[in-house]
Amino acid sequence: MRLVLASGNAGKVVELEQLLAGSGVQLVPQTALGVSDAEETGLTFVENALIKARHAARVTGMPALADDSGICVDFLGGAPGLYAARYAGKHGDSAANNAKLLHELAGVPTEKRGAYFIAVLVVLRHADDPAPLIAEGRWPGRILEAPRGEGGFGYDPLFLPAGHDLGAAELDPALKNRLSHRGQALEVLKARFAELS
Ligand code: IMP
Repeated sequence: MRLVLASGNAGKVVELEQLLAGSGVQLVPQTALGVSDAEETGLTFVENALIKARHAARVTGMPALADDSGICVDFLGGAPGLYAARYAGKHGDSAANNAKLLHELAGVPTEKRGAYFIAVLVVLRHADDPAPLIAEGRWPGRILEAPRGEGGFGYDPLFLPAGHDLGAAELDPALKNRLSHRGQALEVLKARFAELS
């Protein structure tokens, strides 16, 4: 099965391709098909995932997979949440986003730095599909006092997964994929694919 991936985020593209390796699902990033980013006007992750998938399916005529994800920090009432990619203003500027998050949490003690990553994955078989496949994953942990590690993307250098001594950017990519919000959501989605086929 060929799906257009409704994202140009290189970190997500790499992880989703690794997670789907050998599954018979082939992802074509929307950028390779000339699809521009949809405007993310939803107020929830699931709404934005549907908006992105519908846009990519409409433009390409192909079935589409979208990932809408973010990080929710308890002390900040769930921020940056839905706006994780543009927390510091410019979409996708991870260095600025991480600097802003550290600044907002300056002086906040370890026990109050709880946070979780969330990913909602959606598959639309066509742009007007009224019954999308939807899967969610959550990955709990806390925000570190300073960046650690070189791997991953986005907020990974600031995230210490619950029950682990290594930060998300220090984990082997295969282990991150097994534990992460995206990995969990994709497991659910794969089970749904299997039910349908
Ligand atoms: P969007 O889903 O494109 O709106 O953006 C999601 C944003 O959340 C990304 O740009 C990252 O900043 C952050 N994010 C989502 N998943 C991860 C992850 O696995 N590691 C680090 N940051 C992530």
